[in-house]
Amino acid sequence: MLSRPRTMIARSKIARAACGFATLLLAAVVAVSASVNAFAQGVPVVRDAEIEALVRDYARPIFKAAGLANDGIDIVLVNDQSFNAFVTGRRLFINTGALVAAETPNEIIGVIAHEAGHIAGGHQQKLRDQLDRAKTMAIIATLLGAGAMVAGATTNSRGLAGAGMGVAAGGGEMAQRSILAYQRGEEITADRSAITYLNATGQSGMGMLKTFGRFQSALSLSGTQLDPYRISHPMPQERIANLEALVKASPYVDNVDPPTLQQRHDMMRIKIAAYMQGQAAVSRLMRKNPTSLASRYGDAQQTYLYGNPGAALTKTAALIKEQPKNPYFQELRGDILMKVNKPKDAADAYAKAVSLDPARSGLLMVSLGQALMAVGTPDSVKKAVTQLNNGIGRDKENAEAYRYLAQAYGELGQIPAADLATAEGHYYSADYKNAKIFAMRAQQKLKRGEPGWLRAQDIINYTPSNKLK
Ligand SMILES: [Zn+2]
Repeated sequence: MLSRPRTMIARSKIARAACGFATLLLAAVVAVSASVNAFAQGVPVVRDAEIEALVRDYARPIFKAAGLANDGIDIVLVNDQSFNAFVTGRRLFINTGALVAAETPNEIIGVIAHEAGHIAGGHQQKLRDQLDRAKTMAIIATLLGAGAMVAGATTNSRGLAGAGMGVAAGGGEMAQRSILAYQRGEEITADRSAITYLNATGQSGMGMLKTFGRFQSALSLSGTQLDPYRISHPMPQERIANLEALVKASPYVDNVDPPTLQQRHDMMRIKIAAYMQGQAAVSRLMRKNPTSLASRYGDAQQTYLYGNPGAALTKTAALIKEQPKNPYFQELRGDILMKVNKPKDAADAYAKAVSLDPARSGLLMVSLGQALMAVGTPDSVKKAVTQLNNGIGRDKENAEAYRYLAQAYGELGQIPAADLATAEGHYYSADYKNAKIFAMRAQQKLKRGEPGWLRAQDIINYTPSNKLK
């Protein structure tokens, strides 16, 4: 299931990727703004096994071609309807709005390739390394402000704004011009690198061209969403023309995404629509092909979310019959069964999902653990502990999983383990005060020097400069 928006606060060293516009403004912003903390509430992150696995599949070959990733890529889904995507280190941030806006996988893959080009090129690497999440949010806020000024300039030229507005608009225009000059080189380099990665993986650049072309048209922001990506990526005509030439020169220009990947993409889009945008958005996506698998998936999901669970189960059973090896259909079945309070059947469905999941998502393991806890027998609670620990092993920053784990240990009477899990839950929610309280409580009942005791000590010793890994 696509989890409700949640705030990400415990992730360390999250920096915005290197688009010149952002980093250039940074010095000014942080220096003059005393209210950086106002933006420190965090990024609204959503978690979903299916979407994370798909975006990871998009990114993996590109990262490999860029020489960036030897091991896992952390996908961070940001619950935001605007278009944005950026890469920091091995962490890829992407707005749900960007995923819904893209009609094909290739459009997202192109953006990932461009961002990977910035990383591989070491663009403003030093600055990027120094950034943290709070500053990232300040940058985004500033970008939005700068965007508004650019919009003001457009309005102003029609003579609608007063003198004050004119000054602001002029400033924005000037900033915009110097930024364009500053970052043009890096953007062209990133475009070229992107094409290299796409060629190396036999993929077309048409998706990238389509996305960037969309940002190029219509600078006016009236009535449309303000996309951070558009603001950090000014698209002068010349750059689009250069990019177009590169794309069309590729032997892979006419390659399209494999049908199975396109189908997964369609299913992802309709899922985001169902959970984040509501029924009208689902209907819009279904209209084009109401009987496709993706449409029927969307229908089953909205029946689960807004309608009759029995009908949702029937629709999901039909999906499972068509794709018996799809873990996310089993996951949906588990979600519905939890809603109608049948935890034992839900646990069976989640167990199937876990066994079918090639990505081995910790989220599915945690769902299985929750269902086993809800079954409530001592045996099932023990199994829940195993599954929750497996899930955390895959996904150690999942604060919610620690809370369930603490509850499960509590039910089994394992109080020091419960206290330590509670400490971890607080720790990964960035509630360090309570994390330390529970870590100390756990230590009193643990043997000095054993692994749990040492972990508790790490939490007690935590200061922002030696943040635990
Ligand atoms: Zn860029």
